[in-house]
Amino acid sequence: MAEYDYDLFTIGAGSGGVRASRVAAGHGARVALAEDYRVGGTCVIRGCVPKKLFTYAAHFSQDFEDAAGYGWRIAGAEFSWPALMDAKDREIARLEGIYRNLLAQSKVETIDGRATIVGPHTVEVAGRRVTARHILVATGGAPSRPEIPGAELCITSNEAFELRELPRRVLVIGGGYIAVEFAGILRGLGARVTLAYRGEQVLRGFDDDVRAHLSIELVKHGIDLRLNAAPVSVERRVDGSLRATLRTAAGLETQDVDAVMLATGRAPATRGLGLEALGVALDADGGVVVDAYGTTNVPGIHAVGDVTNRIALTPVAIREGAALATTLFGGRPVPVDHRDVAHAVFSDPPVGAVGLTEGAARALSDAVIVHKASFRPLKATLSGRDQKTLMKLVVDAGTHRVLGAHMVGPDAPEIIQGIAIAVKAGLTKAQFDETVAIHPTAAEEFVTMR
Ligand code: NDP
Repeated sequence: MAEYDYDLFTIGAGSGGVRASRVAAGHGARVALAEDYRVGGTCVIRGCVPKKLFTYAAHFSQDFEDAAGYGWRIAGAEFSWPALMDAKDREIARLEGIYRNLLAQSKVETIDGRATIVGPHTVEVAGRRVTARHILVATGGAPSRPEIPGAELCITSNEAFELRELPRRVLVIGGGYIAVEFAGILRGLGARVTLAYRGEQVLRGFDDDVRAHLSIELVKHGIDLRLNAAPVSVERRVDGSLRATLRTAAGLETQDVDAVMLATGRAPATRGLGLEALGVALDADGGVVVDAYGTTNVPGIHAVGDVTNRIALTPVAIREGAALATTLFGGRPVPVDHRDVAHAVFSDPPVGAVGLTEGAARALSDAVIVHKASFRPLKATLSGRDQKTLMKLVVDAGTHRVLGAHMVGPDAPEIIQGIAIAVKAGLTKAQFDETVAIHPTAAEEFVTMR
């Protein structure tokens, strides 16, 4: 009889947990996976996928306006929030079904229930105890709320995906990915949006030119961008609306809105799993500390994805999950390389980036060459839209390697995905220049910058 009930017990059916489980099962491991919510995780259920669908929905308002410059007359266009929500819900349910089928086809046993770790090889789930040679924590993260009076009156991205009606006036608090993405979505769909960020410029960690360029475009898009504005409190008014108080350079000011959305970061979901009792090392934010393969300080307990508090992106979690499963069951240790991970913000206009920012490159060396281009996209000529695209390459002046590529503008995520291959491969500026352009595109600017 086998020593353990399973070779791998995964907690959390998000991108990382599902991939690890399926790859492990493919190597012949006996795998169970527990999920207490819906299979698919944040990305599929209330993150990347529905968010991207919402950005498409939001963009139509601009498309209709732009169409006029191309000879179209579109009268009577109307938007229905319930229709969008129904369509989104159907698609997410379809995807969840696909995930469940893929798990079943891979011979992974899916258990609906919340699992806790009660011993180095023992898990309690759905009223029973099971044992496993390896336990994988892939529980992801959850929105974190600032400790201000009235935080409980606010929504987070979780609730934003379930709203019954589109709020007319929204205050979005935060300046990261979710804040700028939702500000654009809500604005595009017709809400009046204020985006309040406590710092000097949105998207901390991104290239400074990108941050400055995006904030100009956000304002052009009709977003009331308030920088150096920190949340103080939120209260419910007699008419049911919300009054938010912000601290700004000029003192306290209030905003009366129908909804306040907190997009103030996400925290690793490690509470109540039993990790502390087993002595699993956690970082200051509660993230599980792991090595390059995904193993914690307790042998047999592993973690991948957002719960490890490294790079909270789906493709990274997928990579970490596959690497861990191959390391444990494929007979080949696979470390994960977290360098040069391309990333995108689906703001309006969107941002794409890979590699070093100018600031990060200059912190490493003085010998940095920067190439920049800012131009009006061809489409904007006839549409008359006041919009500019920014593209930027950060190059090592000694080796001529392209260290970073950054873009703000239509299709930036799609374009940067291709450029990311070149940056990851360590190609030089000369090799970019040797590449013949595709004309007329925006992307060609990356091979014609001199
Ligand atoms: P981010 O960490 O990106 O941004 C959090 C924002 O909230 C920052 O601007 C931060 O300010 C601000 N903030 C934090 N605490 C407070 C506070 N107490 N009061 C006021 N403001 C505060 O988190 P998100 O929630 O936007 O997203 C979480 C992660 O999910 C992202 O980092 C990303 O990894 C991932 N994600 C990726 C997406 C994509 O790939 N397109 C889309 C959405 C999420 P400060 O900068 O000053 O710290």
